[in-house]
Amino acid sequence: MSGLGISAPRLLLRKLHQVMAAHGDAEQRLNEIVRLIANNMIAEVCSCYLRRAGDVLELYATEGLKKSSIHQTRLRLGEGLVGDIAARARPLNLSDAQSHPQFAYRPETGEEEYHSLLGTPILRGGRVIGVLVVQNRTRRTYTEEEVEALQTVAMVVAELVSSEQMVAATEFSDTAGNATLPHHVTGRVLAEGLAAGYALLHEPRIEVLHTISEDRAQELERLNSAVSALQSSVDKLLTATNTLFSDESKDIFEAYKMFAHDKGWLKKLQDAVKTGLTTEAAIKRVQDDTRARMKEITDPYLRERLSELDDLANRLYLHLDGRKQIDRRNLDKDTVVVARNMGAAELLDYDRRHLKAVILAEGTRSSHVAIVARALGVPVVGQCKDIGESVEQGDFILVDGEHGQVFLRPGDDVQEAFARSQGQRELRQAKYAALRDKPNISKDGIKLSLNINAGLLIDVDHFPELGADGIGLFRTELQFMVRSQMPKIDEQTELYSKVLDNLNGKPVIFRTLDVGGDKLLPYLKTKAEENPAMGWRAIRIGLDRPALLRSQLRAMVRAAAGRELSLMFPMIAEVSEFLEAKAILNKEIERASKKDSGAPTKVRVGTMIEVPSIIWQLDHLLREVDFISVGSNDLMQFFFAVDRGNPKISDRYDTLSPTLLTLLREIANKCAKADIPLSICGDIAGRPLEAMALLGLGYRNFSMSAETLGRVKEMVLSADIGKLESFVNKLCGARDHSVRDQLRAFARDHSIIV
Ligand code: PEP
Ligand code: MG
Repeated sequence: MSGLGISAPRLLLRKLHQVMAAHGDAEQRLNEIVRLIANNMIAEVCSCYLRRAGDVLELYATEGLKKSSIHQTRLRLGEGLVGDIAARARPLNLSDAQSHPQFAYRPETGEEEYHSLLGTPILRGGRVIGVLVVQNRTRRTYTEEEVEALQTVAMVVAELVSSEQMVAATEFSDTAGNATLPHHVTGRVLAEGLAAGYALLHEPRIEVLHTISEDRAQELERLNSAVSALQSSVDKLLTATNTLFSDESKDIFEAYKMFAHDKGWLKKLQDAVKTGLTTEAAIKRVQDDTRARMKEITDPYLRERLSELDDLANRLYLHLDGRKQIDRRNLDKDTVVVARNMGAAELLDYDRRHLKAVILAEGTRSSHVAIVARALGVPVVGQCKDIGESVEQGDFILVDGEHGQVFLRPGDDVQEAFARSQGQRELRQAKYAALRDKPNISKDGIKLSLNINAGLLIDVDHFPELGADGIGLFRTELQFMVRSQMPKIDEQTELYSKVLDNLNGKPVIFRTLDVGGDKLLPYLKTKAEENPAMGWRAIRIGLDRPALLRSQLRAMVRAAAGRELSLMFPMIAEVSEFLEAKAILNKEIERASKKDSGAPTKVRVGTMIEVPSIIWQLDHLLREVDFISVGSNDLMQFFFAVDRGNPKISDRYDTLSPTLLTLLREIANKCAKADIPLSICGDIAGRPLEAMALLGLGYRNFSMSAETLGRVKEMVLSADIGKLESFVNKLCGARDHSVRDQLRAFARDHSIIV
């Protein structure tokens, strides 16, 4: 098996093409293929294992091993070398396979004579559907070209195995290979609601329907024209991007452009096509290669660069034959977006009329994508680990964002049960709607303020239907995130005016831009940071780039001319930051008062409490602010040192831990003493049991996603706050991990609806 030059795989591919094109039994063709591979690669053995139901790999065809072992030899995923290749989805190249600790001897095959082994997974749509192996008697290490050649051949086998004929002939129809069966996935509720729609994969997947090309010259032309289309679209992106921080963002776009024109990358693609692959197969081959390299590289900078190449491969695929790209902004049917993870801005990119639900392999409840989804009323089920492997583009999906369930390709009975759940949910919503006009007063007569968190005009349009007291948090960054360019002062002014108009005198608190961390603006590309949540974000950007903060404050002041304005700053870590920001605001107020349009009649300025350090400066801060709003999402993140976006640790600490409750009580007590209005606008304000605990700690003003308002109101109306206060106060002293159970028992015993 001497090194294979470019001509050897070409010859093999041509022969394989003839086999593929021939009529006849699929299994016979598979036999013919393994014979051809063995001959062409000068191997004594070539075997093909396919994945069957129950994650078993079964020997389907072999040249060299005993024929009687066909359909007899089976290995579980992870068992033996074949099982290992399948489980890791990576090739294995061994000069002495039998001395490998994973080696599992199967006497029926007669493989004891063979020492060296090269195996590669057979992949289809990113899933392992089998393993292709060659073996030799001599102890030898296969060359890189040979590994690549076998990987290419594995693509051809994947095509054959997935052909209808093969599926029918071999009953090869398990969930791994042929995703047509119903499938159920359990995840976590990140945004409530129930919805149905058709799957749209957020990260495009390269589908290789045909591996071997009919006409190499023509294929090369296809590749080249796709490459030109890609290059010009990337160039356009670069010129169209009106960057705010031009130097920093330019680097990134330039690097991207450089890759699109990278000669090495293009040559690899062309070489693959020249060996006889279709363009799709060539892109896939080169992408698989990049991914394999990525797994081995630990340097974050290089990994980032390689991931750009990976992304470019996806884009190139979309440019093939002017393929109709899915226009996210104009979807034509009810859609469930399936992604590994995504940023809030990407979610906003989808057509809101048809975006019905989102399923994420990762994601946490306090990640910004979840917050935005809740604002939009789009259910999200996250932490569905293997969702990417189970779903196909266009699959019908039911998303139960109440219990964290996802039903792929559901049968009639599941669809009927789901429709019943939808009915019950509507009844509940009707019950909440009926509470709408009831005043927000607790059972023991204490007046409360229930507000919503908002950020888009649609929230404001629906405001009158909600029965909320006001908007306790207006996340202005969402407006910045939905645009491809920085909104001008006039545009910002218009938005803030509309919000104030629609609220018709009811209170609204604008928060200045809180970007950075996981909230990225397409035109504000910043350098990658090691710890973005603790990095250059929110007020830190505002103070370092005062022009940005100033323009936003100017827009707010203008919008509120002749009426009241309330605004707050995010991520304040010390009093001096607040004072600095307020000084910029004061200049804007002064400036406006000299103009004809005039200044607001009153301006109330507050801060978010999100960074623990400010709590130890509260005595000073409370002398400067008009109000305080607790952002418990970030506060919890920094208090427990637990990344709010990391599902691995998102359950490690409970929001109802006595330490966090004690901290929240401290804030409430200080504000009460200083007579400074206090509210809470993090996720916990919208969860009935948590909100009940907050009532006991002295919180009277809550701001939450509109979706949760009804439930919290129901709790409030049934709560006796006097009794709650003494109970929750006692709990603060507990040393438990969580006091959730105690609070639940209290609610049950006192008929509080949570
Ligand atoms: C918070 O941190 O609790 C908060 C309300 O702000 P955001 O979720 O937008 O970071
Ligand atoms: Mg925050």
